Amino acid sequence: MSFEDIPVPIGPVYEGERIRAKQMYVELGGPKMEKHFELCRVISKKEIKDGQVTIHGPDLKDMEEGSTHPIGILVEVAGPELEVDLEAVFERRIHEFCNFVNGIMHLNQRYTNWLRISKTAVEKGFNSFQLLGTVLIRLYKAELPIIEQAQVTFYTNEKEIERTYEMAMGVYDKRDERARTIHDDDVDMFYGCVLCQSFAPTHACCITPDRTSLCGSINWFDARAAAKVDPKGPLFEIPPGECLNKLAGEYTGINEMIKKRSLGEIDRIYLFSGMEFPHTSCGCFEAIDFYIPEVNGHGIVDRNYGDVAINGLPFTAMANQTGGGKQMPGFNGISIQYIVSPKYQQYDGGIETIVWMNKGVKDRVGEFLPKDLLPKIATEEEVTDINALKQWLQDVNHPIVETWAEALAEEEEEEEEWEAEGAMVPMGTVGMTIPGVGGAGGFKIILKNCKIHAEAIIIKKIEPKRKKK
Ligand code: SF4
Repeated sequence: MSFEDIPVPIGPVYEGERIRAKQMYVELGGPKMEKHFELCRVISKKEIKDGQVTIHGPDLKDMEEGSTHPIGILVEVAGPELEVDLEAVFERRIHEFCNFVNGIMHLNQRYTNWLRISKTAVEKGFNSFQLLGTVLIRLYKAELPIIEQAQVTFYTNEKEIERTYEMAMGVYDKRDERARTIHDDDVDMFYGCVLCQSFAPTHACCITPDRTSLCGSINWFDARAAAKVDPKGPLFEIPPGECLNKLAGEYTGINEMIKKRSLGEIDRIYLFSGMEFPHTSCGCFEAIDFYIPEVNGHGIVDRNYGDVAINGLPFTAMANQTGGGKQMPGFNGISIQYIVSPKYQQYDGGIETIVWMNKGVKDRVGEFLPKDLLPKIATEEEVTDINALKQWLQDVNHPIVETWAEALAEEEEEEEEWEAEGAMVPMGTVGMTIPGVGGAGGFKIILKNCKIHAEAIIIKKIEPKRKKK
């Protein structure tokens, strides 16, 4: 395969390239655009014109420097061994192959895709979608020899995108609908994916029927089809092994896999917890499940939400915290589809712990959530700060309220234990006395395995406790 006729270098070495606003020529899709997508379809040989690239709307060279445009990318492929189950996995390769181009940054997937083309690439002559389409077709056929013919169509204005966008959304819905028909107990094989390791080297997705990949693009059926046709590829089988904890979703096979794939960095995963040994997160997650300690509940925010979430943090700040292949208790990258899984974070208390979602997410998953719980989950339309959220949860009698007394009692008990222990500080806890303040007892700051986001820190003098009679 040669790219001599392409004016910029192409190869996996360019994956992970960042193109900042100042360096970009144009931006395509992303959070500023309402409708955009990327889709792959398997079609018949008769329908395809191998190698053809079609552009509906303005080409790159017709776009003004610094502008943002809608983008639709439709990749159509044919080959005697291709099956519809492979579409989602082929589609995910759009991300990888676009990032092979020096001068293109591609993020996300499906209807959240986001591309930037650099000024340098355009100056070098990479000024047409014809070139990008040609690169994609060559890479598809070279990297996935099962694909014999391919054609690519780009849509770059709102009018042209409309109809194909609706078609794409229909295809995603169908895939998700099918994924909801099976559960972990129905299968004897799980799957893994390491496509995102170029961005997050310690991350590997575990894909089970009840936990779709966190990018939302690859469900259990898709992963099974991919591992079958290309067993040495980025998607592979994970024999589950022994189930060590059913509620948490801990399996020996998954622990072994993550230890190997993260090069020893991570050795334990609870599939169904965001609080203990959570699944790693790369950067492609559709949404973030985050713990809200003030109400002992969880919130969910998706990447389309541009405002700050109920905890005062925007999606981008939480994404930095969550991603990169780390295990970050309290922040967990998830797919939208996983929210409607019957095993959703069941180790942490399940769906009943959700107290807040941005409206976009609630609208998408509402029909699949318990009818009595749905009106008790707040959005940005009902509350905008934690105090208002607390009041709201009490007013609507959200089930989380019942846990407050218990959580408070546990906290007080823990504090009393530490005080009784004097200088003995629990593992993972740092206690310190601020010097120079004088007085008996001083001040103690205890940090318990935590990350802190705070608008204010209140330091309170510890008064000696009266002995209980
Ligand atoms: S998020 Fe997971 S399933 Fe999706 S492409 Fe990345 S590694 Fe694969």
